[in-house]
Amino acid sequence: MELPISITTSPKNPYQDSFDPVTRELHYRYFGRDPDHTDNVGLRRLMAEQRPVIYFHAIQKGMYLSIWPAYIVGDDLNALTFRVATDHPAFAHDQWMAQQEGVALAAAGDRELERHYATRTNVTRLHQRLFRNRVLRAYQTRCAFCRLRQEPLLDAAHIVADKDPTGNPAVPNGLSLCKIHHAAFDGMFLGVTPKGVIHVRPDLLHEKDGPMLRHGLQGLHEQPIHRPRRAADHPDPDRLDLRYREFRQAY
Ligand SMILES: [Zn+2]
Repeated sequence: MELPISITTSPKNPYQDSFDPVTRELHYRYFGRDPDHTDNVGLRRLMAEQRPVIYFHAIQKGMYLSIWPAYIVGDDLNALTFRVATDHPAFAHDQWMAQQEGVALAAAGDRELERHYATRTNVTRLHQRLFRNRVLRAYQTRCAFCRLRQEPLLDAAHIVADKDPTGNPAVPNGLSLCKIHHAAFDGMFLGVTPKGVIHVRPDLLHEKDGPMLRHGLQGLHEQPIHRPRRAADHPDPDRLDLRYREFRQAY
């Protein structure tokens, strides 16, 4: 099967494509209404294989802005749309944010550096979005600690801090965690052994408080984490070990 290499929208929006200002993703309408149409199946394959497409954004008749790379990051059967993420500065809704952050550089009169900085900020954000998508999908959109399934409440936590913003954030360096467990993991309230067993900071184990502490934190002690189905997506034991040592040193 040949996979599509590009997607195209027109300024008249015949496919009713739209931008979501919150997620900063393009909602790209299916071809027709049949989810199993070859074009739609092809785009779904690109999503599964995490391969980029060229995105042609029509500015006016016969004039397109070509954007590379764009990634299909979501598939909404009910709305008959794909979600598409791109880092292209001309198309990022948070471009003005990057410009604000770049004001100091502009004041220094360095336009080139400012432009570079804005692009880099967008690239970093794109990578974070893609990382979240991949990690949540690997964990079947559940918290690895408590199995909470509410997507808006889930984050992709880094096991070891991802220092290189342009590096490819890998799923084995991630944990799908709900907001409270993400904060508890980052705050060293909870640790995970290289074998994937949750440990609660000892002083916290003996504290008395309401149900959140009792069930949400203390109850996790010595419980195994919920792992992704695919072995290749499992958290990397070496990275867990590194992080667990940090956790042990924190108390
Ligand atoms: Zn949780």
